[in-house]
Amino acid sequence: MKPKTIDSMDALARKAIKARDQGMCRVCGVEGNQVAHVWKRRHLAVRWTPENLLWVCSRHNIDEPEFYESIVGKDIFYKLELLVMQDHSDHLTQEFLSAAEKRLKKLIA
Ligand SMILES: [Zn+2]
Repeated sequence: MKPKTIDSMDALARKAIKARDQGMCRVCGVEGNQVAHVWKRRHLAVRWTPENLLWVCSRHNIDEPEFYESIVGKDIFYKLELLVMQDHSDHLTQEFLSAAEKRLKKLIA
């Protein structure tokens, strides 16, 4: 199996989230061009968690988690926050990355 890296996971996430959200900005509905992270990318625990990722236009990649609370819903927002707060340093093991990869690939199928 090919070793998974941060770059290859980000590329897969981009493809998967674009497919799931049909290329449209989750905030305003126009054609989007990028992935926004509700809880930002430095939080490796949720960097590739589909619920934490939204396809957006360039106007709506906002560096403020609360901005997306109503879009993902309160329950998911706080579930993600919990994961972020429990963050620890083992999130780059191949096992962790394989599980994340599997979740993302489901969105493309
Ligand atoms: Zn937008």
